Amino acid sequence: MNARYDQGFHWIGNRWVPGAGEHTLPMIDPSDGQPFAAIARGDARDVDAAVAAAREAFEGEWGRASALERGRVLMRVAASIQEHADELAAIESRDCGKPLGQARSDALACARYFEFYGGLADKVGGYTIPFQAGYTVFAEREPHGVTGHIVPWNYPMQIFGRTVAAALAAGNACVVKPGEDACLSLLRVAELAAGCGLPAGALNLVTGLGSEAGSALTAHPGIDHYSFTGSPETGTRVAQAAAERHVPVTLELGGKSPQIVFADADLDAALPSLVNAIVQNAGQTCSAGSRLLVERSIYEPLLARLGKAFDAVRVGPGAANLACGPLIRRSQLERVARFVEMAESDGLRVVGRGSIAPDAPAGGFYLAPVLFADVPADHPIAQQEIFGPVLAAMSFDGEDEAVRLANATRYGLVAGVWTRDGARQMRMARRLRAGQVFINNYGAAGGVELPFGGVKSSGHGREKGIEGLLSFTTIKTVAVRHG
Ligand code: NAD
Repeated sequence: MNARYDQGFHWIGNRWVPGAGEHTLPMIDPSDGQPFAAIARGDARDVDAAVAAAREAFEGEWGRASALERGRVLMRVAASIQEHADELAAIESRDCGKPLGQARSDALACARYFEFYGGLADKVGGYTIPFQAGYTVFAEREPHGVTGHIVPWNYPMQIFGRTVAAALAAGNACVVKPGEDACLSLLRVAELAAGCGLPAGALNLVTGLGSEAGSALTAHPGIDHYSFTGSPETGTRVAQAAAERHVPVTLELGGKSPQIVFADADLDAALPSLVNAIVQNAGQTCSAGSRLLVERSIYEPLLARLGKAFDAVRVGPGAANLACGPLIRRSQLERVARFVEMAESDGLRVVGRGSIAPDAPAGGFYLAPVLFADVPADHPIAQQEIFGPVLAAMSFDGEDEAVRLANATRYGLVAGVWTRDGARQMRMARRLRAGQVFINNYGAAGGVELPFGGVKSSGHGREKGIEGLLSFTTIKTVAVRHG
């Protein structure tokens, strides 16, 4: 059988496996709206098969592998992903619509996660605990067992890399339910991993809808830990399903992250970052800098500069590698367009707007990035996660107001602060309710090594960095009484 990543198969036990239900879902190219591939439409039977394969691996070859051996396999996977970065970028760009250059960065970030966690596999241990005379007590880190990973479509390779590489490094066997809108790159990465010596069953992918394959995974009694990345609403459902069986969950949810610019900031450095933080991946980034808070004395001059930068943004197909690609699907385009129309009909001032390249295919899901000014703090475009290239700007007076506005949403994922004042940098970092605070930069170029996650409705638990590996372990305390 000539089975491949784009022809409607799950990846279970290092093999291409047709779905039990024999249904497939078309994959739509966001750049032209046309179907170009298919994925299997998984159901509970496919999830069962994947969990069984993972359990066998965990109790068998993969579970018995030493930390050093696991690390070496992951390092080989990292090298293989890197070698295939161009191929993976082309797959991801077509699948997600993201500009080719961004897709290539995502492939390299995925490789970097495997490298980072491969290197870490044999360096994270437990500790001994001083206790009563006649005892030796130690706390050992062990894997959860079989881990379930629910991944969205917006950064398939990056999010897969950060959760799966960490889980495998810790010694777990994984079952992944990728996003139904874009996941082909992950099926190809799984195939590459098998070629690097990752034993059968250590990594399994069941594709399909959230309401079918996803909910079957969250209801499955064979899963010992969940990593979920997606919307707060689905996160609630996943956490509720896991709570039925008292299974731990890491939730990486949405954001409405503020970029805060003080009058003393280096505006030349800030400006490209302010634009990129909302235009990257067409604003479909959990940590998008979607609110702009500017100190009043520089508000108008900065907006004038930013407006010109927005005007210059061109939107087009992923393969054209412009600054901005299409949105993921028609319904997302319609959703984002509704926010823009609402802001316009509410009379919000448009300061800058990009344009769609004239040769962009007619059926693509394109929306020109737009910058709105004087947005009231309680307006929906200042409060809700739009997941599109729409930036809501407002002014503030002084640190207290900046903090109040920045913290005044249900989210708390990331915040950016631009100021040259060192003491203010520290004060702001302390006062902002967010999982990550960036001072005079935004996103730290991806920051594989940096713990990431949210507070409030942005989620809980941490992935990335050393914390990410710890999330995929549990502590066992062993008390030995020897007299
Ligand atoms: P989503 O919640 O609709 O889907 C995410 C994943 O959950 C998909 O794989 C989907 O199939 C699955 N799913 C859907 N319903 C399910 C169910 N009932 N049971 C189990 N699984 C189910 O989110 P989305 O539209 O794919 O992604 C957009 C959201 O994700 C945004 O809110 C964004 O901020 C968030 N996100 C967060 C991060 C982060 O790291 N914090 C990263 C990327 C995206």
